[in-house]
Amino acid sequence: MTEPIRITHATVITLGEPCRVLRDQTIHIEDGLIRSIAAPASAQTPAATERCAPGPAAATVDASGKIVLPGFINAHTHCYSTFARGLTKTKPASSFLPVLQNLWWRLDKALTLKDCYYSALVVLLEAIRHGATTLIDHHASPHAISGSLDTIARAFAESGLRGCLCYEVSDRDGARATQAGLEENSAFIAACRERNDPRLRALFGLHASFTLSDVTLKTASKLGNELGVGFHIHAAEAVADQEYTLKHCGVRVVERLQEHGLLTPGSIAAHGVHLDEKEMDILAASGAAVVHNPQSNLNNAVGIADLVALHQKGVLVGLGTDAMTARMLEEVRAAVWCQHLRQRNPSAGFAEAASTLLINNAKIAQRLFGPGLGEITAGAPADLILVDYEPPTPLSEENWMGQIIYGLSQAAVDTTIVAGRVLMRDKKLLLDLDEAAIYHRSRELAAALWKRM
Ligand SMILES: [Zn+2]
Repeated sequence: MTEPIRITHATVITLGEPCRVLRDQTIHIEDGLIRSIAAPASAQTPAATERCAPGPAAATVDASGKIVLPGFINAHTHCYSTFARGLTKTKPASSFLPVLQNLWWRLDKALTLKDCYYSALVVLLEAIRHGATTLIDHHASPHAISGSLDTIARAFAESGLRGCLCYEVSDRDGARATQAGLEENSAFIAACRERNDPRLRALFGLHASFTLSDVTLKTASKLGNELGVGFHIHAAEAVADQEYTLKHCGVRVVERLQEHGLLTPGSIAAHGVHLDEKEMDILAASGAAVVHNPQSNLNNAVGIADLVALHQKGVLVGLGTDAMTARMLEEVRAAVWCQHLRQRNPSAGFAEAASTLLINNAKIAQRLFGPGLGEITAGAPADLILVDYEPPTPLSEENWMGQIIYGLSQAAVDTTIVAGRVLMRDKKLLLDLDEAAIYHRSRELAAALWKRM
């Protein structure tokens, strides 16, 4: 149970559809939900007071000089990748597969459960600082599979953030690891359901078509569909995924996933850089979401997804970071610049790119966590942030996207609230965690992991 909160003098960009820009609002938060949002006069009507307003115990947060927004959602990331920062002992990679072989598949094999826990904690502290309040994670630790999702869930619980977890099943580490990965997903999905924590959800994780056999896909599909969850898989990130799948399976990646029953309305296909028209049609019809990760795609030199074509086909496209950053506003800016370049037209792709974060991620998260998440509206989960931004030009319902991309994205997040709990205020974390000790331990564990690699 958290104390009621009253946010006053708030300029609010509600997000959701339609997105509204509201001035001088009072927002009442209680029991993890936004109870009311109104201008001061109407907020004080007797009926509203009786129904919504918290008592005198409510903590007041003055939002003057700030913009109030829903907390951001990161629709695809990897908490486990923290210890790759500053790692120099990798052979140069000339294309996508050697990036995996020389770096990621060496790092993930060296991870212990303790490494998974600290890798996640560091990422989650950074997310709070940058206003990301929900993270959809995709985890791999082939030599520490059993219990890994519970370990990461513990870090999420301690951080106060909302998370959706899965384990990326792959055949690249042998039959025992495949089996352990399938079991880890199934066990965690069942435990998550049992726990019934509104801040924790699960998907069934799979690595990518080119590391998964038909037998494994069939088994995963049966397990995940019986458990009633969607799948979270990398799809068509690099040309290599398409080449492998065409050569060995005779179909393209999205066709293969569809044939195995892995594209459901709750599913996430991360990347979707190399899709043909037929694959886009399949994705649109399936209701599965594509999650775009532009900075990762640029870093791995795999290409830029065609957001304009995906939008025209009616595919729901969200935004992730693939662990490149904790700052969703940095990622969405990259998405906009990439799309201008991809379309070879500085006027094309702006709305399609900005919408990934500012409209579509809420739709993806609501499928997992329920209605209202990612919007500021009465009854929605109270996940919101206060950003130090005084618009130097008029802010309106016509230009809020441009204000966010070109201006607010450069401002500091001051306050982060998740499920009605203040996790950061005045840029100071309010957690029962020793930040300095966490970073110290993280450095020790990373150094040890680098030696093992
Ligand atoms: Zn990824």
